Amino acid sequence: MLILLTLPVLNDNYIYLIHDPESGETAAVDPALAAPVLDALNQHHWSLNLILNTHHHNDHVGGNLELKQKTGCKIIASISDQHRIPGIDTPVKENDILWLGKHPIHIISTPGHTNGHIVYHFTNDNLLFCGDTLFVMGCGRLFEGSAEQLWHSLQKLKSLPPETRVYCAHEYTQTNGRFALSVEPDNQALQQRMAVINQLRGKLTPTVPSTLAEERATNPFFREDSPTLQASLGLLNKKPIDVFTQLRTLKDHF
Ligand code: ZN
Ligand code: FE
Repeated sequence: MLILLTLPVLNDNYIYLIHDPESGETAAVDPALAAPVLDALNQHHWSLNLILNTHHHNDHVGGNLELKQKTGCKIIASISDQHRIPGIDTPVKENDILWLGKHPIHIISTPGHTNGHIVYHFTNDNLLFCGDTLFVMGCGRLFEGSAEQLWHSLQKLKSLPPETRVYCAHEYTQTNGRFALSVEPDNQALQQRMAVINQLRGKLTPTVPSTLAEERATNPFFREDSPTLQASLGLLNKKPIDVFTQLRTLKDHF
């Protein structure tokens, strides 16, 4: 069994540490900062082997160089972001497989938020580290790609097993949930989930991980094909991609 640590940093970022007790290997996902990662490694007597970057934004790679210098870890990132990932060692692309000990990590390319965005799927462990592509009840903003690209990227994630646990890179859940309720006020699963989320955030408890099953039930960007959501937007029987595009625009102005 892998051991997972969630480190809240900056305003609303999460860094994840993944430790495999069997091999003794540890990976850090999107280290915005080095210090909190070094502290956690020290505290647990772990050494860092891998950095897994989802994309080039500074709140995901800011700790790369210091961590590499202090731990000798290898930095993994998208081949198309080679020029803008500090300290990259191993460029990867869609369908490549990496390993943490005996745990396979499948690379999925998810352009939209940025052109080079990738996510890391621990296939045998049902873990998904999805950076700024998919959030709890939301999805990433379109900084570089088109709505159509992001929609295709999210379809890939939607097709993974429903029990997959979703570890996204930001705590945007409450705002995302308010938007979700605004477009689908009668969704009971969503109403119930928001009650739980509000309690958690009242105690500043992280709302990650989510599961893909929960996202299917409550995330509007996973429900663009749902007749109830389409009806409440006045877009019944429109193409899912058009509903998705409209949702992304509405969220930008929410
Ligand atoms: Zn980003
Ligand atoms: Fe980010």
